Amino acid sequence: MLDLFENVTENLPLIPEESLSDEDVLKEALALKEELSDRMLILGHHYQQDDVISFADITGDSLKLAQVASSVDKPYIVFCGVHFMAETTDILTTNKKVILPDLRAGCSMADMANRAEVDTAWKFLNDSIPNGEKIVPVTYINCTAALKSFVGENDGSICTSSNAEAVIKWALDKGDKLMFFPDQHLGRNTCFKMGIPLDEMVTYDPNKVNGGLTKEKIQRAKVILWYGYCSVHQGFTAGQVRKIKKDSPETRVIVHPECSFEVVQAADEAGSTAYIINRVNEMPAGSKIAIGTEINLVNRLAQENPDKTVISLSPYQCLCTTMYRVRPRWLLASFRAIKQNRPINIIQVDPQTTQYARKALETMLSLS
Ligand code: SF4
Repeated sequence: MLDLFENVTENLPLIPEESLSDEDVLKEALALKEELSDRMLILGHHYQQDDVISFADITGDSLKLAQVASSVDKPYIVFCGVHFMAETTDILTTNKKVILPDLRAGCSMADMANRAEVDTAWKFLNDSIPNGEKIVPVTYINCTAALKSFVGENDGSICTSSNAEAVIKWALDKGDKLMFFPDQHLGRNTCFKMGIPLDEMVTYDPNKVNGGLTKEKIQRAKVILWYGYCSVHQGFTAGQVRKIKKDSPETRVIVHPECSFEVVQAADEAGSTAYIINRVNEMPAGSKIAIGTEINLVNRLAQENPDKTVISLSPYQCLCTTMYRVRPRWLLASFRAIKQNRPINIIQVDPQTTQYARKALETMLSLS
């Protein structure tokens, strides 16, 4: 679970529903957004609900939002996303206060790898390979600042789902093996697409002794994947793809590479959030598209493309429940605090972690 006291300065603000109706929350929040516009930038991740996204000055994926924030000259950044995204923004910015409206907005995938576990794994992996061989660590951006710092300290890089292929190629060019965390699926899907066979990949499970691996298995492997996953994207199944293809063969199935290997193999296409958005927007009128990603984004794409049929791949609600925690009520609490010059819920990464994490982010940006 998210540690509420890591890299934060306050706890959850509460505006009880009995003290202010939802309607009055929206009214006051909109007025404050206007009043504070010279001091405050509001960023909204694609997976946020519509009533939160409607407040965003800029929408995007985690990397785009962090990059935008670093070039904007406003002292407060209200990040409507999850904890690791606000940390990334703080790492990439100077002299700004990054605010996460609800501190419980974490990420189940980011919680699946912590620094102590990764340090233990790193030592075991390096003790298992012959002298002179090199393992290069790469972390998906969906992780804590401590892990971003780890790859910076160990000559590795960060990647997003958009640039994973370029970063992994870079890592394997400079080393003999790749250690990829925390998302096994993005690692496996990307490496397979690059031509690395499945039998050259092993999975390190931090809940097992030595990750459930032996020295021999590590020596034979090219890629060591961490046993982590996104609970939202893991919910899609290859059976759902097959059913859509059987019922409606003309429907194009596009999934995010955080989905399992079987789902990605069964789908017509796989790509990052930005890829999915571009593909849906560029398809001709009349197209039918089933998408394997978070439901708020799928619903928004359907609204924005009324001339196409855009549905979720899953009949169940594939909702990121932690993103869902950010609500206009918590935005209002953040706005009120900024107005009083007493900002709350500030996400602040310590200087040493920032130094190495920024180095790893800069490596990634140079490869993108
Ligand atoms: S969709 Fe998955 S990876 Fe993204 S924030 Fe939610 S739990 Fe984390």
